[in-house]
Amino acid sequence: MLIDYHIHTRLCKHASGVPEDYVKQAIKEGFFEIGFADHIPMPNEYDPENRMTILELPEYINMINELKSRYSEIYIKLGIEVDYFPKYVDYVKKVIDENRFDYVLGAVHFLDEWGIDNDKYIDEFKKRDINEVYREYFDTVKKAAETKIFDVIAHFDVIKKFGYKPENGYLEIATDALETIKKNDICLEINTSGLRKEAKEVYPNDEIIVKAHELDIPITLGSDSHNPSEVGWHFNETIEKLKKIGYRKLCRFSERKRSFLSLT
Ligand code: ZN
Ligand code: FE
Ligand code: FE
Ligand code: ZN
Repeated sequence: MLIDYHIHTRLCKHASGVPEDYVKQAIKEGFFEIGFADHIPMPNEYDPENRMTILELPEYINMINELKSRYSEIYIKLGIEVDYFPKYVDYVKKVIDENRFDYVLGAVHFLDEWGIDNDKYIDEFKKRDINEVYREYFDTVKKAAETKIFDVIAHFDVIKKFGYKPENGYLEIATDALETIKKNDICLEINTSGLRKEAKEVYPNDEIIVKAHELDIPITLGSDSHNPSEVGWHFNETIEKLKKIGYRKLCRFSERKRSFLSLT
């Protein structure tokens, strides 16, 4: 196994096990490297039930750095999953600048007040025009890519999480965001957690991965584990697929510097 760059910790209040359990599981599965990328603290009115507080951030960093120094049989990286939310761009920039992360995942979880991947708000999909929702979502992803804050764009089409998809696909709707990712030299995350959800497929879908490959966008791999058993979730089949599409390498990061790992 290669790398898994999207692992959460109990500090986000919706993941189980201690970080060391994830490390042990990754070693058992023969991983070369894993990265923790827990949800970043935000100002208190933004989704506090799904993230650590700003006061817990040092605990997160110390916890991961302690594992880094204690385990020599696997590389461990300190990442962070950062929400793109226009109002708080300066806030997250400051948190990122004040700490030494190996990499920063950028994620869109909210369109205004609507938590798009939170099942509390799933009814919103029934009330809205799906094509319009996808347009607004990918426009937001595009804006996220333009901030230059992120090394990686996480779960590129997470808007499909609950299975609501435009009838005629959404490659065209998403292309502008993909091209913006390319223009800003950002890495695209292949996130297997979609296979555990009603979306029933990896984020992003095959059509988009093919397009990303055409555009020569580099990729990385993440399971979005919220439980130790999810580390490397369906990675074998996903890696086979990526190779078939033509990908030969994955991105890895150290102190925000990108390098590559061969997929073969
Ligand atoms: Zn989470
Ligand atoms: Fe996320
Ligand atoms: Fe995540
Ligand atoms: Zn995530």
